[in-house]
Amino acid sequence: MASIFGHALAAYTIGKVSNLKLNPVKLSLLFIFCAVIPDADVIMFQFGYSYMHPLGHRGFTHSILFAFLLSFLMRVIFYRKIKYFSKTGIVLFTAFLLATLSHSLLDACTNGGRGVGFLIPFDNSRYFFPWRPILVSPLGARNFFSEWGLRVLQNEAFYIGIPCAILIAMTIFFKKKDL
Ligand SMILES: [Zn+2]
Repeated sequence: MASIFGHALAAYTIGKVSNLKLNPVKLSLLFIFCAVIPDADVIMFQFGYSYMHPLGHRGFTHSILFAFLLSFLMRVIFYRKIKYFSKTGIVLFTAFLLATLSHSLLDACTNGGRGVGFLIPFDNSRYFFPWRPILVSPLGARNFFSEWGLRVLQNEAFYIGIPCAILIAMTIFFKKKDL
């Protein structure tokens, strides 16, 4: 995993860039939820599932199918009244999808752990990108407050923070030009 902060920041940025005219606090919280929930799969260690099991860490909850299912669920539960094929409906669903997938995409850029099961349940292979500049984050809050955790935050400030800040700045700039 990248850290919870890295995932949350990526999701927040996707929310900003999507430029939806909906309650921004609700939207940001839901996007952040989508981006951090895939790591709830660490609980599967407690149930004896190995890392490489399809339900293990970076398994099904990191897959493209899961992202589709979660996005659909979020939309149905929280934005029932918005028409599916209206412009807002399509942008909303796409943004949920990207927020959820951002988690797996960032994980596939980390330098540790095993790969990401993007194609589970159709293919149990695990994948990494060829470029993996993001330091893998320690599992568990206790381990995070350490020298390792600090290095992760510095690394993510560079590789996630700067691109996100640029995207948010561009969104604000173009929004202003629209007015
Ligand atoms: Zn993860």
